[in-house]
Amino acid sequence: MNTQIIAIANQKGGVGKTTTCVNLGIGLAKAGKKVLLIDCDPQGSLTISLGTSQPDKLPVTLSDMMGKVLTDQQIPTAEGILHHPEGVDLMPADIQLSGMEVSLVNAMSRETVLKQYLDTVKGQYSHILIDCQPSLGMLTVNALAAANRILIPVQAEYLPAKGLEQLLQTVSKVRRQINPKLQIDGILLTMVDSRTNFAREISELLRDTYGGKIKVFGTEIPHSVRAKETSAEGKSIYAHDPGGKVAEAYQNLTKEVLKIEKQREKHKTGISR
Ligand code: ADP
Ligand code: MG
Repeated sequence: MNTQIIAIANQKGGVGKTTTCVNLGIGLAKAGKKVLLIDCDPQGSLTISLGTSQPDKLPVTLSDMMGKVLTDQQIPTAEGILHHPEGVDLMPADIQLSGMEVSLVNAMSRETVLKQYLDTVKGQYSHILIDCQPSLGMLTVNALAAANRILIPVQAEYLPAKGLEQLLQTVSKVRRQINPKLQIDGILLTMVDSRTNFAREISELLRDTYGGKIKVFGTEIPHSVRAKETSAEGKSIYAHDPGGKVAEAYQNLTKEVLKIEKQREKHKTGISR
């Protein structure tokens, strides 16, 4: 199985990374995929969103797994992986992960520690989604080094240009120096308020600026209080507000994500012929 590894990244906080990780991940599971979500943020928001209210009480989290990689220890199958009732698996995180980030600075192969961990589990999964922390630090670089795809949520309310430029530079650098396989899936507009024109203006600006080099997803995620409530509920938008507009949007995003991989697959076989 050729596992698709998707980093969900933007160094800006509050743009919908974690919400997208939950609902794209569970959307993929509903489409029959085997999905592992990785919480790569010491805040543990993904872990909390999936129902563990106190991540620091968990016996095993991502920092332990990365620690084992650093010290060359064996990782038993599925160690520390949690199962969510909606059909996804989760490698949780807690605040210890920020200590791990500090120790990475002096580690050998420091950019590929997460990749080395994922290499031990990816055989079990068709899709792995990595929820990145809001910075371009060593943990995000590890996520980009481990991924073959990146999805960039952008909140439709603010002009994202400057921060986006930095993120794209980091992506280019990682691609050149560590991971040539990394491809940008696209920019996802989130929290779109249908009463304003921000979303249209921003997607036009993005299209003008990046000249078709970077796709803006056709799906936009609407703003909705129902979406805001889900993180406290420990479930997805499909369970919390089925039939709502945000559930529908994340379903459409799931289809777009699957379409991208199908197209790339076709392209590949086309070239080899
Ligand atoms: P990030 O991971 O980028 O920091 P989150 O996914 O945690 O962003 O979202 C930031 C806040 O916005 C959270 O309180 C979340 O519940 C809320 N939120 C996310 N998506 C939506 C949406 N479509 N409509 C309204 N609120 C949302
Ligand atoms: Mg988050």
